[in-house]
Amino acid sequence: MKRLLLLLPSTSYRAADFLDAAERLGIEVVVGSNERQALESVVPGKTITLDFTDLKESAERAVAFAKDSPLDAVVSADEDAIVLAAMISEALSLPHNPVSAAAAAKDKHRLREILTAASVPTPPSQIFSIDDPPETLSQKVVYPCVLKPTFLSASRGVIRANHPDEFVAAFYRLGRILKEPEVKHLGGTAAKQILVEDFIPGKEVALEGLLQNGYLSILALFDKPDPLDGPFFEETIYVTPSRLPASVQEAISECTGRAAAALGLKEGPIHAELRVNERGPLIIELAARSIGGICSRALRFGVGLTLEEIILRHALGLPIESLERERPAAGVMMIPIPAAGILTGYQGVEEAKKVPGIEDVKIMIHRRQKIIPLPEGRRYLGFIFARAPRPEEAESALREAHRKLKFEIAPFKLKSEE
Ligand code: ADP
Ligand code: CA
Repeated sequence: MKRLLLLLPSTSYRAADFLDAAERLGIEVVVGSNERQALESVVPGKTITLDFTDLKESAERAVAFAKDSPLDAVVSADEDAIVLAAMISEALSLPHNPVSAAAAAKDKHRLREILTAASVPTPPSQIFSIDDPPETLSQKVVYPCVLKPTFLSASRGVIRANHPDEFVAAFYRLGRILKEPEVKHLGGTAAKQILVEDFIPGKEVALEGLLQNGYLSILALFDKPDPLDGPFFEETIYVTPSRLPASVQEAISECTGRAAAALGLKEGPIHAELRVNERGPLIIELAARSIGGICSRALRFGVGLTLEEIILRHALGLPIESLERERPAAGVMMIPIPAAGILTGYQGVEEAKKVPGIEDVKIMIHRRQKIIPLPEGRRYLGFIFARAPRPEEAESALREAHRKLKFEIAPFKLKSEE
């Protein structure tokens, strides 16, 4: 039986989908997580505790573990452990991304530098320290601009500024996020940096791909039909196949392929986000992981394979019969967070599920839990999934289902608003 080390941060949304995939493939999983208790109950006796911020020590620990229990593959379910996965794989001579490529994909500043040097279109950017005086910096940037952390994900801390006053306010607000203890611990020195980019107008798409020996296969190209113009960038609807003209889709694939090659990524999933305008596509993000949240549930390949099964099969060198997505259109909505507060109740899930084309509605935040909108927030309120013959039908099903949902939220004051 093949044995896989799955690196799974305790906050990951991806646990169930990867563990289910492993079960269907009949492989043994060892979970490497940063919190032991969190996963002991799911996979008793098959966990190792690894500090994802101490790469060297964690890699040594995993390699020592592999001496007694040989590993056939190492996969990181999420962004946080992709560099560690590459390091362990390298030490065990398993196929993997070069450590430097994984590290570059994880660092938005490094990503911009590499893409710019390789003439792959990407926003012009500058890196600043959170200790710099924003009043001075505000004179050095082009407006509108976007301020962001270099290492977080899910649009956390990403803020648009249209003029110097907004820049200064955004700089302090992002500075406070970067000083939150958990963020500071995760980021290390990167938590001292703020990346500022030109705001690129245009339509946005997300591309799921799989690299095999450096060759990029496109698994799905999603349109994001809701405008993402800021000041915060909450993701909502993703629909595939894309309705962009074939020539534009080709330009997107080509641009993503060049970006992955420039970084030196070679193996495994990639998740890219691009903006497309009259000048063509630009890379906003290129991550060496699969799509976040539980969005991957919108995708099915060949005779019903999930994205996680494809990722695990590839990592283990097992045959993948087809990377072709099923024929119907599919969509997912990350349910927008209506307000900050405590979730006291919600209604309409059953009605939403009855909307034609809707496959599932999952609310992820429990009653009496806090809900925090962007830019501070980091948790999803929930997801709606749709499948329909055509993408516009999947999109309207998602919108109609969303209208059936009602959330009751008791307000509380966010620290940053005081
Ligand atoms: P994260 O990795 O946290 O998702 P991103 O860099 O992908 O951060 O930014 C989140 C979103 O913010 C993007 O999907 C996009 O909508 C918007 N965005 C980020 N940078 C820019 C930019 N330079 N121009 C326009 N929009 C941007
Ligand atoms: Ca993103």
